[in-house]
Amino acid sequence: MVNNFASLFKEVILKNKCVFCGACIASCPVEAIEVVKNKPMLKGVCYNCEVCYYQCARTGIYDKQFIEEKKFGRRRERDEVFGVYLKVFKAKATDKNILNVCQNGGAVTSLLKYMFDEGLIDAAVGVKRDENWEAYPFVVLNEKDLLEVAGSKYMVVPTLTAVREAVDYLFKKSIAVVGLPCQIEAVTNYKYSLKHPLKLGNKIKLTIGVFCFHEFKHAEMLNFFKEKNIELKEVTKMDIEKGRFKVYKGDELILNIKISELDPFTREACKICKDFTAELADISVGNVDSPSDWSTIIIRSEYGLKIFEDAVNRGYLTAEPLEKLETVKLLSKVKRKNALKHLKETAEVKARK
Ligand SMILES: Cc1cc2nc3c(=O)[nH]c(=O)nc-3n(C[C@H](O)[C@H](O)[C@H](O)COP(=O)(O)OP(=O)(O)OC[C@H]3O[C@@H](n4cnc5c(N)ncnc54)[C@H](O)[C@@H]3O)c2cc1C
Ligand code: SF4
Ligand code: SF4
Ligand code: SF4
Repeated sequence: MVNNFASLFKEVILKNKCVFCGACIASCPVEAIEVVKNKPMLKGVCYNCEVCYYQCARTGIYDKQFIEEKKFGRRRERDEVFGVYLKVFKAKATDKNILNVCQNGGAVTSLLKYMFDEGLIDAAVGVKRDENWEAYPFVVLNEKDLLEVAGSKYMVVPTLTAVREAVDYLFKKSIAVVGLPCQIEAVTNYKYSLKHPLKLGNKIKLTIGVFCFHEFKHAEMLNFFKEKNIELKEVTKMDIEKGRFKVYKGDELILNIKISELDPFTREACKICKDFTAELADISVGNVDSPSDWSTIIIRSEYGLKIFEDAVNRGYLTAEPLEKLETVKLLSKVKRKNALKHLKETAEVKARK
């Protein structure tokens, strides 16, 4: 049997399992897949090469720990509830320009700045937004771009399409990718899956995953803000902190609601997501278990550790070891449990039909 785009469409997209990461779109060697109404669709001729299918993290073709072993050289221990790791820290940028625009401690932006300054990367993939909070994938080429993409946008865009843009159209050779856990899972497949697009995978030098508990349907969420009389053009920051969703206009907090109020807008594909911390990233960054103006850092790979330590030693970041990651552990367990529960319930509903 050939696992082509039709298989991907039937098994993932039609079943609402697609996380819209963009991995299939970017990896198709004949550029036959395009985005139509926020979904990957076949617009050209499919040559049945199977590459798109093998990059998708939602086909169930891989045991995630098979990829984990390939990347980190070992599988997680039983007590590593947030995946394989080497060290954990809290860290904060030293650069004022970064601290002015970042989400938490600015660790993501500082690590990328260090890599650009040292010539270790010539591009990074991130997410930019416009004044109406519409977000889109973006290829970062310099410090100005880096500052423009800093900060979290609580929405999903097909970030990995920017990997193709960086490689095929901008001819970049060394790329860092920042992404949500689902996006990091797919981009890791670019290197380690059984049929990988090596011309993309070989260019990826470092992956930084940001923590993510669940993500929302963008249009519905923006409508919700309108109903709350929030003028999106005036919003400077959105944040998730201690179970609350907060919206800021400069220093003024203009919305502070329980995150559960946004539950109705949770994307179907997120309900079966088991990964809170981007378990396949070289470095994972979030905020829980640190003060709100610091970043929580999980270092997983030897290369990730080298980059982090070098960035600290060169003064890009201030860092302190973190002893406990109790909330990270708890949220990782809860997310996995919720996903398994949802999968079980959907299987039962299907069996009853
Ligand atoms: C959708 C989403 C949900 C999150 N949920 C949690 C959570 O529940 N708990 C928690 O502790 N942390 C969460 N985080 C992570 C947190 O918001 C910060 O991104 C993280 O702490 C890094 O902060 P920083 O100051 O180091 O990042 P910065 O230096 O500000 O850099 C942020 C980087 O994230 C990238 N980015 C922004 N939005 C997106 C997006 N939608 N998709 C992919 N990349 C993006 C930017 O391109 C930029 O490179 C979430 C992040 C996102 C994007
Ligand atoms: S990657 Fe291969 S299988 Fe997928 S759509 Fe393109 S040609 Fe078809
Ligand atoms: S690779 Fe990503 S965008 Fe493509 S079908 Fe799979 S989840 Fe969706
Ligand atoms: S909850 Fe999972 S699938 Fe949804 S956006 Fe976050 S990482 Fe991706």
